[in-house]
Amino acid sequence: MKGRETVAYINIDKYLENLNYIQNQAKTNIIPVLKANAYGHGMVPLAKQVFNEGYTMLAVAYLEEALQILKEGIKLPILIFNYFSPTDFKELSEFAQFLRPTITSYMFLEKVCDILGKDVGKFKFHINVDTGINRIGTKEERLPQLIKLIKDKNVRIEGVYSHFASADERDNFTRVQFEKYKTLLDYIINSGIDVEIKHISNSAAALFFPEYSLDYVRPGIATYGLQPSTTHKIDQLKPILELKSIVASIQNLQPNETIGYGRTYEVQKKMKTAVVPIGYADGYFRVLSNNGEVLINGRRRKILGRVSMDQIVVDVTDNNVSIGDEVVIIGRQKYDEISAEEVAENASTINYEVTSRIAQRVQRIYI
Ligand code: PLP
Repeated sequence: MKGRETVAYINIDKYLENLNYIQNQAKTNIIPVLKANAYGHGMVPLAKQVFNEGYTMLAVAYLEEALQILKEGIKLPILIFNYFSPTDFKELSEFAQFLRPTITSYMFLEKVCDILGKDVGKFKFHINVDTGINRIGTKEERLPQLIKLIKDKNVRIEGVYSHFASADERDNFTRVQFEKYKTLLDYIINSGIDVEIKHISNSAAALFFPEYSLDYVRPGIATYGLQPSTTHKIDQLKPILELKSIVASIQNLQPNETIGYGRTYEVQKKMKTAVVPIGYADGYFRVLSNNGEVLINGRRRKILGRVSMDQIVVDVTDNNVSIGDEVVIIGRQKYDEISAEEVAENASTINYEVTSRIAQRVQRIYI
């Protein structure tokens, strides 16, 4: 079914090329990050690709995401970055061999051990050590207590990791965090805990600081061909998503008429407008009212009036535009391109938000 013909096209070949490029640059294994519906690109279809290509682990934010992947029969270890309720462990034994929960705090692990008893040994955990981002992650002063619990309860540790706060800025703090990570890792190992895998780098670090790559890197944004940094462009990354729609209707407007809610755009001289079936409920930004642009017939057209829930109106005066013509919201058309980065800049946000906001109701087609 074509429906309203607003579609996100996802290019699988480019996705695999990006994975390959990052792996070569980082000179180590990669754990593709597929959280938040793969930053809007569709988690399960891309997880299948990761699995078929023989990558050995992937990562998500939440337990629900990991279970969705495993229930599709995609059986590979899945690192879960964030907190989930310890009581959920009671229902997880079927998937225990594939789940890699993060120890998000001492209290979390204590509760998990209380709930599972000896069965805690069915799971392999990763310790997230805080090296300066100050979100989830055990701080240095709490490590001895955590290590004691791990040893007392025979908790299996597979990995120790941390997360960079500003690798995209290529700053010195990244080095400070890496040094801190090594100190904490040594402490854990010297306390008698076996650590199979060590990992710290996100996309920016994987590409800008390959010397920090360790056993794995955990790229998200760059795997989708999006830039990990606003200041250092990497030309080899190929955006894998294009968001397209069509001209659904054309209007001829007279001076003094207004367009859309709040009547924020007033027509000055005769004009022709096109209605495009995409709105803020699809994840398009309402702040782009009277501000954003789309491509039709290879030319930029301005959004007129407010972005509403399901529609935008664009200026097509003096152009030979027909109902059914392709509209590019993100992507390339003829000689021009609107990147997720451009949309992000206009909407005062980052490319991560542009794609991860693309709503469930927007059809995804994998090409
Ligand atoms: N590792 C962790 C713990 C994360 O939270 C994220 C994403 O925020 C990533 C890796 C991937 O980061 P990026 O998309 O910048 O590569």
